[in-house]
Amino acid sequence: MSYATALRCRECGREYPQEPINVCEVCFGPLEVAYDYESIARDLSRDKIAAAPASMWRYKELLPVSGEVIDIGTGFTPLTKADNLGRELGLRQLYLKNDCLNPTYSFKDRVVSVAATKAKEFGFSAIACTSTGNLAGSVAAHAARAGLKAYIFIPADLEQGKILGAAIYNPTLIAVNGNYDEVNRLCNELADKYPWGFVNINIRPYYAEGSKTLGYEVAEQLGWRAPDHAVVPVASGALLVKIWKGLNELSMLGLIGPVSTRMHATQAAGCAPVVEAFRAGTHIIRPVKPNTIAKSLAIGNPADGYYALKTIGESGGAASAATDAEIVAGIKLLAESEGIFAETAGGVVVSGLRHLVAEGAIKRDELVVAFITGCGLKTLEAVADSVVSPPIIQPTLASFEQMYGERAL
Ligand SMILES: *Cc1c(COP(=O)(O)O)cnc(C)c1O
Ligand SMILES: [Zn+2]
Repeated sequence: MSYATALRCRECGREYPQEPINVCEVCFGPLEVAYDYESIARDLSRDKIAAAPASMWRYKELLPVSGEVIDIGTGFTPLTKADNLGRELGLRQLYLKNDCLNPTYSFKDRVVSVAATKAKEFGFSAIACTSTGNLAGSVAAHAARAGLKAYIFIPADLEQGKILGAAIYNPTLIAVNGNYDEVNRLCNELADKYPWGFVNINIRPYYAEGSKTLGYEVAEQLGWRAPDHAVVPVASGALLVKIWKGLNELSMLGLIGPVSTRMHATQAAGCAPVVEAFRAGTHIIRPVKPNTIAKSLAIGNPADGYYALKTIGESGGAASAATDAEIVAGIKLLAESEGIFAETAGGVVVSGLRHLVAEGAIKRDELVVAFITGCGLKTLEAVADSVVSPPIIQPTLASFEQMYGERAL
């Protein structure tokens, strides 16, 4: 049984039955899942959650599914106190939410676990997506587990690790000569024509709910409280919006106190439509043409950009961008200080956080959670030229000592 009651238009409030639809017929606003929070409040408690499995599905009551879930082991990833990185950045209470440690090495497993479950409930025999990289691998893996077909459309210039990391599950993988926004336009046409569950189109209202679990987990792992700041990488903007929704749901249910978390967006300077709109003081996104190594965040016309800006504004947050050089520096700093090898989105977050501290948006003693959303082994190209290659020696003591002397290691 599910506590979800309907799909509701985020603009006009009109309700729809829970079907594979994502847009309001009347005002074209996006649809969002609505819940019976009174019943959830009656049935859910901290103790009940604590006794549930250590996965994102421990919060099943707050997700829009009814039957058996498609779970490849996603969620309840570590929240680590990062004292070394905190010292570097001038923060005394910095935590990292390490979502590299999901089954396909990114937070996308959270959204896809919900989307694949829902697509199967709806009776689809195939799931599909447009992807900036991580979604491709996650959709392919969940389809493999669920016995669904997968149709996956990616920009042709993605990193090898993202392409291979999806291809290994043997989906129908199609590389398109175009950027994400162009691929997504094609997929919107396909979604009208083919009977597939497009996780980021007709299944999107359910899909996006999966990101709320990052908010739930962080609050639980902090001992049932919300952080002072959340620093989030932004592509479509859904992740940022849903972390905020998740925290506020917990508060509404009485599981945590009032939420005063400031939600901060970080983007790559080469694709920063949300940051630019924030700086211009508007909620209206001006689409850009992406040009950045942070391909997982390279959406020039973000579907939830408007709502991300509203959330930033409502929560008193800010926004900051990192250049490609800063992204590489951020990846290296995170690796060298905390032993976590993140992909480019992690570099965006670390360097974006540095800017937010420098600008005074985040103060030294406040509790900060930075969301590390994907693993660096998928974006080796980004750092290949900026790490030291190992010296090659012969298997002799003399050879070692010659090298050791020369290099003064
Ligand atoms: C997709 C993605 C994001 C951003 O997600 P949105 O909900 O589209 O804003 C962040 N980090 C990584 C690694 C991603 O793959
Ligand atoms: Zn509407």
